[in-house]
Amino acid sequence: MMPSHRFWLRTLAAMCGLALGLAASSCQSVDFTKPAEQAAPSAVAAELDFTVTILGSGTPIASRTQVGAAILVKAGSQTLLFDCGRGCTSRLAQYDLSLGPQIDKLFLTHLHSDHIVGIPDLWLNGWTQGRQGPLRIWGPEGTYDMLESLRKAFAADLSYRNAGPDKPAPPALENHVTRIPEQGGVVFQTGGVTVTAFPVIHARIQAYGFRIDYAGKSVLISGDTSATPNLATYGAGADLALLEVVSPAMEEALRQAYPAAMVEMILRLHLTPEQAGQTLAEIAPELGVYYHTVTGCESDKALLETTGKYHRGSVIVASDLTEIRLMPTGIETHQFLLNEIECR
Ligand SMILES: [Zn+2]
Ligand SMILES: [Zn+2]
Repeated sequence: MMPSHRFWLRTLAAMCGLALGLAASSCQSVDFTKPAEQAAPSAVAAELDFTVTILGSGTPIASRTQVGAAILVKAGSQTLLFDCGRGCTSRLAQYDLSLGPQIDKLFLTHLHSDHIVGIPDLWLNGWTQGRQGPLRIWGPEGTYDMLESLRKAFAADLSYRNAGPDKPAPPALENHVTRIPEQGGVVFQTGGVTVTAFPVIHARIQAYGFRIDYAGKSVLISGDTSATPNLATYGAGADLALLEVVSPAMEEALRQAYPAAMVEMILRLHLTPEQAGQTLAEIAPELGVYYHTVTGCESDKALLETTGKYHRGSVIVASDLTEIRLMPTGIETHQFLLNEIECR
């Protein structure tokens, strides 16, 4: 259920930036003061109840507007979180304050820190704020050890809150980790929702993309990857494809932060704009969404123009709290205000 006080800033139709040829218009002025134009989004969404929200669209580079990678998927009765980077829980609260203690299923694309540093907050404060059961986590090899290490790192806090070091951990803090097989496969199937993990290519570590199927619709999440045929293979027929990509602004930020050799190494771990465009052309989704990149008007425009050389379909560059609804009649997208303050 979406809080009624939210302000719809713009719909994708209003942005006019969907068609690649019109990409530049997504940077035109937006009325950030205009109150809700539609008051009952949940009633419309209920027709299918399949929503994907980019909680964090950013990268390891700290940003004023983009937190780390985190994607929320609500499908029927299931609420699933994919990655939990920096600021994940804050964006979760901005999106829906009630969700923090409710999140109990987390899927990890890989164990790079920019995808997991929000886990202690989600794990511990989800418990202190009411989560009854464990935080179930699906991840690559090393996930269980990471959770056990967090338990040691927060031993003092746990003993304070749990009334003594010798008291057994409450159920909400038990480790419940499912290791994703190296070759991937179906890792979750409940309530009509199927999550399939598939290997991607990223720094020679175990890394995965995910495909989520529900009610005849499907979503692809690339995770962090360089070009790999698996994106097109597992993205076949996907309605929505979320791809990481190195935007021009991200490449510029990397070049300012690191020596040239390291920048080249980092670039080889991710999709170039050309590769992302080619991948979208192969998948041909109803909507392509770029995330896990540095945004900016000129950068977004250049990124989408490059994409348009390969792929003629609709593509957007996500911000934090870009919400995408898969409807029976097509896809709708909305952008939420980041720092809404109520003065009531
Ligand atoms: Zn990574
Ligand atoms: Zn990353």
